[in-house]
Amino acid sequence: MTRILIVEDEPAIAIALQDELEGEMYRTECVSDGITGLARARSGEFELILLDVMLPGKDGMNVTRELRRAGNQTPIILLTARSVESDKILGLDLGADDYITKPFSAGELLSRIRAVLRRTQPPAARGGANSFGNCTLDVERCELMRGGQAVGLTATEFRMLKVFLERTGTVLSLDEILYAVWGPGIVMSDRVIYTHINNLRNKIEDDASKPRHLVSVRGLGYRFDQ
Ligand code: CA
Repeated sequence: MTRILIVEDEPAIAIALQDELEGEMYRTECVSDGITGLARARSGEFELILLDVMLPGKDGMNVTRELRRAGNQTPIILLTARSVESDKILGLDLGADDYITKPFSAGELLSRIRAVLRRTQPPAARGGANSFGNCTLDVERCELMRGGQAVGLTATEFRMLKVFLERTGTVLSLDEILYAVWGPGIVMSDRVIYTHINNLRNKIEDDASKPRHLVSVRGLGYRFDQ
């Protein structure tokens, strides 16, 4: 699950951001000043930082500068109240990945977050080199090749495999799988998800009864191992 650090000193904005992101299945942590923000960002626990520019303690520009100077490359989206061009350019020059001007809509923010994550996540997590074992998933062509042979996947199996590949090494709960594969607001019995997982295993595993890629993690969910 992608973890996002929110550094924002206005409680109403911070709470709204947190609600919105958690609704999209991101895991969030919120801090309200630049010094704590810098310390939490340095922990390396986050895949993305939403960083307000005007902050008590240390402003967002300085937090960005210090992180990049220390070699920390966690993607940063600056939240700026000012639409001054020079601010945006300064932020990007300091090493921020994007900025968004307040007030912004949830949809706009989410699309910026997705775009930044697409650019910054390792290639294995994106399209392209999606290989594991003797299989390769061509995300552009929606095609799975196994040992040089095309393997037919249903649309659900394709989406499920793509989700697992994107989150290789991360345990996904049934709820997370349901959300990522079928989308928000869908209710489905666990049994249906198990069935799809078993069908997928039959197509990607040498021995579906002893899976090496799509492994069960008892009591927690499933994890994909390359
Ligand atoms: Ca502020």
